[in-house]
Amino acid sequence: MQDLPNRSDLPVEQTWDLSPLYKTDAAWEKDFKKLRGLVRKFNQYKGKLSDPQMLYEAFRASDALSLAIERLYTFAHLRSDEDTGNSANRARVDCISALSSEIGGDTAWFEPELSALPEEQFKALLKSPVLKFYKRTLKEIGRDRKHTLSEAEERVLELSSEAFQTPEKTFSILNDADLVFPLIKDEKGKEIRLSHGNYIKMLESSDRTVRRDAFKGIYSVYGGLKNTFASLMDAEVRNHVVDAKMRHYKSALCSSLSEDNIPESVYRSLISAVHENLKPLHDYFAFRAEKLGLEKLDMFDIHCPLVSEIARNVPWNEAENMVKEALAPLGKEYGNVLAKAFTDRWIDIPECKGKRSGAYSGGCYGKPPYLLLNHSGNLDSVFTLAHELGHSIHSYFSDRSNDYHYAGYKIFVAEVASTTNEILLQHYLLSNAKSQAEKAYLVNYLIDMFRGTLYRQTMFAEFELMMHEHSADGIPLTADHLSAEYYKLNTLYHGNAVAPDQDIQYEWARIPHFHYDFYVYKYATGISAAAALAQKILAGETEGYLRFLNAGDSKDVIDIMKDAGVDFTTPAPIDEALKLFAKQVETLKTLM
Ligand SMILES: [Zn+2]
Repeated sequence: MQDLPNRSDLPVEQTWDLSPLYKTDAAWEKDFKKLRGLVRKFNQYKGKLSDPQMLYEAFRASDALSLAIERLYTFAHLRSDEDTGNSANRARVDCISALSSEIGGDTAWFEPELSALPEEQFKALLKSPVLKFYKRTLKEIGRDRKHTLSEAEERVLELSSEAFQTPEKTFSILNDADLVFPLIKDEKGKEIRLSHGNYIKMLESSDRTVRRDAFKGIYSVYGGLKNTFASLMDAEVRNHVVDAKMRHYKSALCSSLSEDNIPESVYRSLISAVHENLKPLHDYFAFRAEKLGLEKLDMFDIHCPLVSEIARNVPWNEAENMVKEALAPLGKEYGNVLAKAFTDRWIDIPECKGKRSGAYSGGCYGKPPYLLLNHSGNLDSVFTLAHELGHSIHSYFSDRSNDYHYAGYKIFVAEVASTTNEILLQHYLLSNAKSQAEKAYLVNYLIDMFRGTLYRQTMFAEFELMMHEHSADGIPLTADHLSAEYYKLNTLYHGNAVAPDQDIQYEWARIPHFHYDFYVYKYATGISAAAALAQKILAGETEGYLRFLNAGDSKDVIDIMKDAGVDFTTPAPIDEALKLFAKQVETLKTLM
């Protein structure tokens, strides 16, 4: 293998230009020293929030402080990721992280003070013309107020909050640090220790024995500790259920969804729409079994590639052109911003010594939305480029159209723009593919994406809902109960072409997301929105999509999506996404 180049040897045009953030390290230091002054300025409003003018100024001061922290932090971590071995860069990240968590403690009085105002005073603030701009934020706080308990009760909860975090903390210590997985033999007969990191790679092996050994190896460990994992899960879910009950929510689900003001029907109709559309997934598994020459698939036969990756080297210039052409249907305005990403050096392109691995989009308000890549030049890395550009350009439009206060979009919509770009790229490459093999690879790419993100995450969402409902009904979440329910659900989703190994019943124990309080469904709704939007864009309708990119956090996410033409209060977006999946499965069958 060739040695990676040193950062200092990279051509400058292949690296990002961080000077719009800070021209020099000294300029960063200077801003860093100003932070405490901004904290003092904000804290002078403490105890004065019932006055509309004071509250207005407090909002401004709070935003000025968090923007300053964001800018300092962004520069520090981008610089540090260029070369993770550089200790001066690392020190900057540590400094800003430590100071910002200290500031978090010093400024935590703000929301509780607003929440504790008497009803009449709070209503007056909502009506105050001075605070018109902040009405949306005040309404959000007002929604929480209904579920705020007495001062004494809140104090008890606050004091015990750390103890409530024990199940999740213990789960991650157990899962990430203490578990020891067995040794298995790889394709060449070499012994390797199974880990979270190599497990999926092993499942992708074309050697069935390797896949089976990896699967059996992982679940021998989870199965052996099933009672410990179940006890942690039971405690976690019980925390959510008890908290929701104390705060007078109808259920733990309603409590979690209230954060983004999402109707319960959105969650439930996702599950029922997926149930209605399981057949294309079952067809896909039957086709997969046939192609792999198996009577029935087992759970460890789902990840190995059906179509091998096209050995295609895409030089950077070609990748840039591909992405530009693929995203051309988004129109001229989008195209102009896209061009800036390349000409204004938003992107850090090649791999080099010490650079952080993987890819991400990151930046701060009003500054370039940077992209870190490790562009390897295969087809997958072009998809990564399109994906991260989706995030960055979404941030660019949100920032441009909104005040800092409402610029940051919510997690519910965070993966929509990135996934839309991937679907558009797949469509473009498919229309221009020269060989059957290339077409099959591209179709399979989308199929895998939908299987993993839409079907699988909805199965998780359904399991999560079951756990919370059973816990609320007083059914203890024992290992046997969780495993039996998980196995049942897994059978329903995978259909007759899959004869699952019994050990799949322990998969619930391995998934960290089950400790995150109704998080995974957002992956499923995100990809559905992207599928619906991509179809519209390809049909020449871009206005709705641009409205979405510009919306930031100016409205509730359900209304933002509705404005873009995607109505999550109906099953239509999910149906549409699953129709696209069904179409791809049919195409794959004809291609192979
Ligand atoms: Zn992403």
